[in-house]
Amino acid sequence: MKKSWKEGLFYLLLFAFCFAGGRLTAARQAVNASNMATGGKLAIVIDDFGYDGNGTEEMLALPIPFTAAVMPFSEFSVENAKKVEEAGKEVVLHMPMEALTGKAEWVGDKGVFRSMTDEEIKAVVQEAFTILPNAVGMNNHMGSAIMEDQRCLGDVLDVLKAQNGFFIDSVTTCNSQGRCLAEEKGVPFIARDVFLDGTSDVEKVKQNLRKAAEIALKKGKAVAIGHVGPEGGEVTAKAIAELIPEFEEEGITFVTASELIEE
Ligand SMILES: [Zn+2]
Repeated sequence: MKKSWKEGLFYLLLFAFCFAGGRLTAARQAVNASNMATGGKLAIVIDDFGYDGNGTEEMLALPIPFTAAVMPFSEFSVENAKKVEEAGKEVVLHMPMEALTGKAEWVGDKGVFRSMTDEEIKAVVQEAFTILPNAVGMNNHMGSAIMEDQRCLGDVLDVLKAQNGFFIDSVTTCNSQGRCLAEEKGVPFIARDVFLDGTSDVEKVKQNLRKAAEIALKKGKAVAIGHVGPEGGEVTAKAIAELIPEFEEEGITFVTASELIEE
């Protein structure tokens, strides 16, 4: 009688351990699955296509989705936009706009300036979309003066709305009216979290990319802006390429800007 009681206890404990063990494994699997599910989406936007600038080929060879912002009135605008499409990346319009700082020639002769009438602003944005008809959205090249100006930005967003496009605010000024006006006009909107480059140091670009990944993991999504040409180019492409495996391991999914907006 005594022996069978002990035997019973032994089997009871054995069962309890197995049951608990099984529950723990299941719990661990659930945690892993939820990490995968919660991960983070990172939209990389690469500005200044359209000049056939440094790093154009390297950037387009990256094996991840990203959004290429193409200048509409530059020598290689149409050609570069075609290359972007052939590489399977997303095209948005990189609209030159007047800035409060920097040289006027960085904006170019053609773009959005405060001296223009409403009709002139709408016409130049419309013309840009005619040159790059496959652009699904827009962001600003330079543009701090326009981003602060409700009248000018309102005109830009009116045309964008008619094109069913979305707006990516590069946040080149703290006083940007982008979010407010886009909301008012019903234009889908996202804003930059991190600038990636403006340096020739690959490690610095990697640091900025890791900052963007951290935000994506914390908030679920992040927008990082880099450049082809002298501000980044090959250096930025190299940094991105080298971090792809690390980021994917951490649960980062690379997406286009439009995929981030559709959330
Ligand atoms: Zn730009």
